[in-house]
Amino acid sequence: MSRRLTHIAGGLFFGLPVVGLVYYFFAEEFSYFRLVLIIGISIVCVFTGAIFPDIIERPTNPDHRGLFHSWFMLSLIFISAFIICFVIIPRYGEKLFPYPVFGFFLGYLSHLLLDSTTKSSLR
Ligand SMILES: [Zn+2]
Repeated sequence: MSRRLTHIAGGLFFGLPVVGLVYYFFAEEFSYFRLVLIIGISIVCVFTGAIFPDIIERPTNPDHRGLFHSWFMLSLIFISAFIICFVIIPRYGEKLFPYPVFGFFLGYLSHLLLDSTTKSSLR
């Protein structure tokens, strides 16, 4: 499996269930219709987040990992996802927009977590 496919698969398998669970636990009125809608929109966002670091810093050489592949950025992404999950979504839970944004951060998070398991790891 190519690296890009690994990131896409890892992002979707990690990000979509988390988005679904957060919706399930934080939505004031849960509905399967909205769940499907949220997951549908989130697929695009998780996908984008999962390949985003390699779009900015193209993996053309083994030393391509810079700021967007750093532990510093991983911390920022983690804090952002945390704030969206525990502050913004509980406040605006009935709106659709926080979930796909959250999905983007989860995709990004999964990319950096996967890259951190490689030999060259993160910066
Ligand atoms: Zn990468």
